[in-house]
Amino acid sequence: MELKNYIFKNLWLQVVFSLLVGLGVGLILGGDLGMAMDDDTLDSLISYLKIPANIFLSVIQMIIVPLIFASIVVAITNLGAKDKLKTLGLGVGTYFVITTTIAILVAVFLASVISPGSILDLTSLQESHDLSDDDLQIKDGFSLDDIPNAVSNIIPRNPISSYLEGQMFSILVMALIVGLSMAVLPKESVKPLLDILEAIQKITLHILLISMKIVPFAVFGLIVGMVATVGIGTMVGLGVYMGTVVLGLGIMLLVYTLFLKFVAKRSISSTFSKFRNPQTLAFSTASSMATMPVTLKTAEDDLNIDNRVSKFVIPLGTTINMDGTALYQVIAVFFLAQLFAIELSMISILVIIITSLLASIGTPAVPGAGVIVLSTILITVGIPPVGILLLLSVDRILDMIRTMVNVTGDLTASCVFDKITRNKMSE
Ligand code: ASP
Repeated sequence: MELKNYIFKNLWLQVVFSLLVGLGVGLILGGDLGMAMDDDTLDSLISYLKIPANIFLSVIQMIIVPLIFASIVVAITNLGAKDKLKTLGLGVGTYFVITTTIAILVAVFLASVISPGSILDLTSLQESHDLSDDDLQIKDGFSLDDIPNAVSNIIPRNPISSYLEGQMFSILVMALIVGLSMAVLPKESVKPLLDILEAIQKITLHILLISMKIVPFAVFGLIVGMVATVGIGTMVGLGVYMGTVVLGLGIMLLVYTLFLKFVAKRSISSTFSKFRNPQTLAFSTASSMATMPVTLKTAEDDLNIDNRVSKFVIPLGTTINMDGTALYQVIAVFFLAQLFAIELSMISILVIIITSLLASIGTPAVPGAGVIVLSTILITVGIPPVGILLLLSVDRILDMIRTMVNVTGDLTASCVFDKITRNKMSE
């Protein structure tokens, strides 16, 4: 195939190309290498360059709620028979908890051994980030007393407002309830709604396919903005912390290869090469949600996953299965505890493990959500949440990598459950 055609057909190559060009332009525009511009001009230039990214993300936001709702309801209804549904639902849930726990344990291990926060000096970081001593006082926030309220609010009382506000978790719960009810009712009585939902699914996916054309431009603008505004100096200062997170994320990719090889019984190299499109998109948009339609398409068209499995596992995984985010959150908590010289007892570590498992489930799959939800975990172990400000400067780059891992986790889960359900059917 001619090179030009090859690049045109492979989204990931276009995205990599935009990433590289964006990196170069960002370095030139930023203060580190080239023509350091004044902040106002740079800001306004960056806001223009971000137009394609904003358009793309708006299109995603426009279609994501109907797409997730329709996909889950259709998947559950088509799975039909109650037993099959129960096995798959319980199996997928357990699998997600297991992989997220592995990610958390890897994080606890790495953060304790490498101890990235002990190498840095808090006062110099405080000065470079303009934080006063007051800022570093512990403030009240989420506490264990809030849990009963949060649990009672899981069922959306007003589905329309959940829709309007795009509260993905409530939408997911409602989709599960509607889907489960439709699965047990006689087929003829639910058919009209099922047809409509299937049509919604097709239409939203089609809109996405068209909007994919601007992805390389979106990526270019985002990368230029990131590189030009985050100085290389900041990255070097927080280098050990970033390195620990990246190492942990790399280990998670290895864990997935084990699942692919030994449970899903797939060839690692050919499966990973098929993961490329969603992985590059996840890396560049830092949103598993924005990537979901491509993840779904890759699962069905390239990995040949039974679409009853993919339409259930991928939307569910996108919303609640975030191994990369959990790993990152735990390393960040340890890093800040070490930086503030806060001793973590066994009980605190246990609290960190449980809260980060729950927090990763509740983290919305959008850019930068992980670092915001992190404050919940920090407060439960008594670390000043303002510590997050120290991490924000390098968060985008870590967000890109952890999102790629989140999406790889969802794809791996769909391969695993495709294998398991096929085995069950042949039995
Ligand atoms: N951006 C991540 C995702 O969409 C969530 C996070 O911030 O960790 O998967």
